[in-house]
Amino acid sequence: MPVNEERGYEMGKNAIEDKVAVTIVAHPDDAEFACGGTVAKWAREGWRVVYIICTDGSGGGPEAGSLSREARAQVRQQVVKTREEEQRRAGDLLGVAEVIFLGHPDGQLQVTEEIQRQLVRLLRIYRPQRVIIPSPTFSWKHPLWVAHPDHLATGEAALRAIYPAAQNPWAFPSLENEGLHPHKVSEIYVMFAPESNHAVDISETFAAKEAALRAHKSQFGEEATEMIALMHEWDGTCGKRHGVRFAEEYFVIQNTLAG
Ligand SMILES: [Zn+2]
Repeated sequence: MPVNEERGYEMGKNAIEDKVAVTIVAHPDDAEFACGGTVAKWAREGWRVVYIICTDGSGGGPEAGSLSREARAQVRQQVVKTREEEQRRAGDLLGVAEVIFLGHPDGQLQVTEEIQRQLVRLLRIYRPQRVIIPSPTFSWKHPLWVAHPDHLATGEAALRAIYPAAQNPWAFPSLENEGLHPHKVSEIYVMFAPESNHAVDISETFAAKEAALRAHKSQFGEEATEMIALMHEWDGTCGKRHGVRFAEEYFVIQNTLAG
């Protein structure tokens, strides 16, 4: 899909040719599974891809049932650290330039003013033309894990941050005082949307996606056998629909709205 020729709401630090893309997800590993092939493809095409991970990932760890309260707290802290390391490693394998962790508690994400401000701030700093986000709405055609409340909250917070807040000079006026001027995102790629209107052929980057998923050892085990099989089936079925080996689907929104 061609890059929208239109520049941001105001001239930002980035010219269009700088090609910056931001991926906003709830948990470490979400991006690898849902859009890892696209991210690797864009990185190879010269896009600077920045990840924003909204939660600390502390909800995905070893069995906690037999642990004392103190031991659980320690384990959770260790889980957060491990998952950050795994996410950075996975990002490296895909060619991601930077990974930012917002650190909200896993499983409790709300669409607060705080997270919207954080996201608007980052959008105005990095000034991406493209942003990948989870769908804020759930479709029953998707498996239940897609409807994880953190995914839906991330989708809604991200969409609110992109439009109208990031491009609206009246939103979060304190950011202007920091020199962070409005920025308009041109294209929004929505993952697991109720319907899709765009597919990215990831046949060439599928191997990188697979390697990146394997980096999340604490979640999928050493070999990640089940997860890799699921990904083959998922992306292969999607590829078949579009006449390629593997693909990832999105609902892409062209943002043509003025601030
Ligand atoms: Zn997730």
